[in-house]
Amino acid sequence: MPDKPKVAFYWCASCGGCEESIVDLAEDILEVAQAVDIVFWPVAMDFKRKDVEAMPDGSILATMVNGSIRTSEQEEMAHLLRRKSQILIAYGSCAHTGGIPSLANQFTREQILRYVYEEAPSVVNEERVRPQPRHRDNGTAVTLPEFRGLVRSLDQVVEVDYYLPGCPPTPKLLKQAVLTLLSGNLPPKGTVLAPDTAQCDSCPRKETKPVDLKINEFKRPHWTQIDPETCFLAQGIICMGPATRSGCEAQCIRGNMPCTGCFGPTSRVRDQGAKILSALASSVNAREPEDIEKILDGIVDPVGTFYRYSLAKSLLRAKVTR
Ligand code: SF4
Ligand code: SF4
Repeated sequence: MPDKPKVAFYWCASCGGCEESIVDLAEDILEVAQAVDIVFWPVAMDFKRKDVEAMPDGSILATMVNGSIRTSEQEEMAHLLRRKSQILIAYGSCAHTGGIPSLANQFTREQILRYVYEEAPSVVNEERVRPQPRHRDNGTAVTLPEFRGLVRSLDQVVEVDYYLPGCPPTPKLLKQAVLTLLSGNLPPKGTVLAPDTAQCDSCPRKETKPVDLKINEFKRPHWTQIDPETCFLAQGIICMGPATRSGCEAQCIRGNMPCTGCFGPTSRVRDQGAKILSALASSVNAREPEDIEKILDGIVDPVGTFYRYSLAKSLLRAKVTR
């Protein structure tokens, strides 16, 4: 019997939700497990890095890497898995566009370390001890991965063949992706494995989205009685739908919460945050600077709202401090 195709899963800077989404395949995971050999999946199976190093280059059909890249270890694993895999897939928002971890690019490495190890209210660290990448303890060398200055998406570190978007990708998209890989009928390299249309195009509330949107006030969802039938933007609640790729079956919207943008932009959008900013700015219903200011003050965290999942891949990418 011929060997089954080999697949691998790995996680970098992520919350673990993408790993959960693989388990969310439920009984379909048996179908996947029958069709492939999972040769590396640290969260679920006891394989080590040396096992991957021992594999011939290109011997894994496909590796799905979730999480963004922040540490030297994640960088090394990305290069190792790239070398061993015929196809490398950026799995989930963090690998695809930097994800929530890349919001840390608003701060320098020093600001982050100082806050976490010295200034956070729950920290007691009078000697200001910080983890060191290299340390000797009783003559034994101990090492830790280095904390890099920027959070990067997977394709900012190694070449990526395909992207599965979402925070996390849906089990349906994952199953489709695995079946596509096994069929050998591969889409062009660089394809995002989800429809290339905006969330609004398939939104169950699209008929209620005003053609000429006028926003008098931005409301926060948790302070608002949300009408479950009407477009969020028509209610003054920021919805990233116009700037976000579809494919999640409008999960948040069906749960009466606005889209926060986890599927990333469509192929026609270069910068997801700039796209929604331009849509919203032209809808602010005011002329005088102080009235405009007052309406915009309703957006409490603009970077966290417009670039929640995509700061690493935005045009600005990070805050530069001199
Ligand atoms: S803005 Fe949001 S709620 Fe309105 S149609 Fe688009 S996706 Fe749906
Ligand atoms: S509605 Fe938006 S935020 Fe929610 S899962 Fe879909 S793409 Fe992600």
